[in-house]
Amino acid sequence: MSSIAQNIRNIELEIKENVKLVAVTKTKPVPVLQETYDSGFRRFGENKVQEMTEKYNLLPKDIEWHLIGHLQSNKVKYIAPFVSMIHSVDSYKLLKEINKEALKNDRVIPCLLQIFIAMEETKFGLSEQEAIAILTSEELPALSNIKIVGLMGMASNTDDADQVRKEFRSLKNLSYSLKKYDASNVELTEISMGMSGDYLIAAEEGSTLVRVGSAIFGSR
Ligand SMILES: *Cc1c(COP(=O)(O)O)cnc(C)c1O
Repeated sequence: MSSIAQNIRNIELEIKENVKLVAVTKTKPVPVLQETYDSGFRRFGENKVQEMTEKYNLLPKDIEWHLIGHLQSNKVKYIAPFVSMIHSVDSYKLLKEINKEALKNDRVIPCLLQIFIAMEETKFGLSEQEAIAILTSEELPALSNIKIVGLMGMASNTDDADQVRKEFRSLKNLSYSLKKYDASNVELTEISMGMSGDYLIAAEEGSTLVRVGSAIFGSR
């Protein structure tokens, strides 16, 4: 078994059965993705539209592509035909654009609201109030080509495991408290949290999708 396949297997054994692994393949060349595919793995995460689109065009079509990085509205059209899930929705404007492009492709695109949970100032994401504003918007039910299926968050980049755990727990609690806004196109079941350095803590705290890159493919 290749080391990539072995790493994937080890991580899948560590996380619980109901936690899905997204292998973050950003910056990795197509042959590495092909090798991962050949080992039987199908769920890939990329953070840039152009890179994801190029790889999509070159690789088998039964791969699940997860967009995990910041997404500009004017680039939605490139991924709308094939993206499996967008983890990084951080504005109502973006959600409307995704809906428009999904409609053109006759698809419903699953989306996660990215929530700001870290101490740092630099990361993208919505506050709780901004998330509630989206979920209670009168126009939201009309967006029938998107489905908000959960929340995404990135913990602080720190060695303080207690701090990271606290941040993941706050996302889980927020997901629970926002369930009252479930609607025809809102069903908050997924929580995308956990990366190479903290996926075990995330899995313990209720993650359903861990996004792991360097622990599988080595450092970038
Ligand atoms: C790069 C990236 C990851 C994976 O990071 P690793 O530390 O390599 O596991 C996860 N989530 C997002 C949003 C990323 O940009």
